Amino acid sequence: MPTRRRFIKCLIALGAGLLPWSGWSEMLKIVNHQAAQAAILTNDSSAKTLDLIHPKDVSYLYHTAADDISALTASDFQGRRAGTVGEEKAAAYLIEQMKGLGLEPLGDLINKNTRNYSNAFTVYPVIEEFYNGRLTFRPGNSQDLRTPCANVIGGIMGKNKSESVILSAHFDHLGIFQGHLYPGANDNASGVGCILDLVRQLVQEGVKPKCNIVLAFWSAEEMGFVGSFSFLQNPTFSLGGLKAVFNVDTIGNGALNDFSVWASSDNEAVQAIQSAASEHNISIPLASHEGYNSDQVYFNLDHLPAVTLMARDWLNKNHTPDDVPDFVNPEKVALANKILYKAVKKIAY
Ligand SMILES: [Zn+2]
Repeated sequence: MPTRRRFIKCLIALGAGLLPWSGWSEMLKIVNHQAAQAAILTNDSSAKTLDLIHPKDVSYLYHTAADDISALTASDFQGRRAGTVGEEKAAAYLIEQMKGLGLEPLGDLINKNTRNYSNAFTVYPVIEEFYNGRLTFRPGNSQDLRTPCANVIGGIMGKNKSESVILSAHFDHLGIFQGHLYPGANDNASGVGCILDLVRQLVQEGVKPKCNIVLAFWSAEEMGFVGSFSFLQNPTFSLGGLKAVFNVDTIGNGALNDFSVWASSDNEAVQAIQSAASEHNISIPLASHEGYNSDQVYFNLDHLPAVTLMARDWLNKNHTPDDVPDFVNPEKVALANKILYKAVKKIAY
């Protein structure tokens, strides 16, 4: 053990001397991961019982929520409207992250033993409509051809594979309308980045959870929660052992400590978030959200313990072309991440 400690200290000293701040944090990640991996090779008694998980490619551990927000809002993703090429590119980006992090694919079955990361469904056409200055969708003609799109689902498999916690965020947004790009940085690249960062942290720590931690990116939320609804109609894994759904939507604006939770009523997922937040001296009320909703809605209708965590001031600049990356406060995304981390740790480890 002393030898390993000396090696790590040496690496840290080397990192501090040579690297700028961002490189320094990357170096710490390498050191932590090496320490976790090295533990299994030693005679350390704790290592014998330690069950480790590994990324496929460690470089994916160094991505950040800010990288995700900047990638997803880039002009070639065309505002990620469900069923468009831009959204397909966003899905490909998410699949690449999941693969790199070594997550198990938990989407549709390809054959008896193999799954995709994608979970396909279709949507009706929509009609754009401005409501209180926000661009929204209402259903178009249901006789028209439906458009294919897909959720992206993967996970860290736990010791008990029959129980799961879902971490979710919708990755679609509104696309391009009347020549304006709707980048959807806060709604909801911020939520996607937030939970990807959390999973990167869990993979980097390397400890196998008690139950599966499923990462689900829903599509077509902006068209009426179609992706999460479709998943619930035809789940790709058993929801019998579902312990909680932590959905994150539009998390990065407004005062730092100001969050809301949405759920049809109090449940275990709501309580887990509220108790994790209270450890940061933050109180998060179960907010009334009449007329608005997010992807927890159909889970709650199925009596499943789901909650959406969001910024209390989420409506500001929402569904406008001004929802750009600079509008998202990275500190707030990181704070949401810490709250979710505590909630997930309590339930899944
Ligand atoms: Zn939205």
